[in-house]
Amino acid sequence: MIERTVSSPNHSVRPFGLEDVWGAILHHTATAGDSGAAVARMFAQASFKVAAHDVIDEHGNVWHCVPLIRAAWQAGMCRAYDWNRDGKLQDWERYVNTHTGGIELCNRGDGRDDFPDAQIRSTAVILRRWDAKCPNFKLRNITDHQTVNLNGKIDMRPNFPAAKLFWWILHPRSPVPSGGAYAQLPDWAKKQVDEIKRD
Ligand SMILES: [Zn+2]
Repeated sequence: MIERTVSSPNHSVRPFGLEDVWGAILHHTATAGDSGAAVARMFAQASFKVAAHDVIDEHGNVWHCVPLIRAAWQAGMCRAYDWNRDGKLQDWERYVNTHTGGIELCNRGDGRDDFPDAQIRSTAVILRRWDAKCPNFKLRNITDHQTVNLNGKIDMRPNFPAAKLFWWILHPRSPVPSGGAYAQLPDWAKKQVDEIKRD
């Protein structure tokens, strides 16, 4: 896993620093699998006004664009998500940029372009790091842009191998079980997989 930094100016403050990070949003770039450098250069332009914290290409290479302690401009106004899992949707839970980290996965986003294992493994490494760094981060708050977007944006498609991602988050050194990862996941992770993979 090769990591590079290409800094983006497209971020703002998190009032409570890393304590503000409750979860993660996954996106696809809608570009070719090897386009990580180009996406990072786009995020580096102030006029683009969009960035995710990290970009991960099909080989599992990572570009760090925004430090996690800042709120990357990855999503506009969003649907509230129960980040603190208290059973209530509150106004602050609409501010997805303030309360999550964002990962852009290089993928055409057409529902047919595969997400290779190297890309999923690197994504699991980054998410485990965030979980270790942020006191309020919850693995059950890993979801995708489509789940929180208000405008029906398709991001991501159901061909994203979400069960594999949760498998490697929970078992970083184990191969995916022969019967598939999904059946072996705890119920909370199955719920997240279903949420990310819905049509
Ligand atoms: Zn997105």
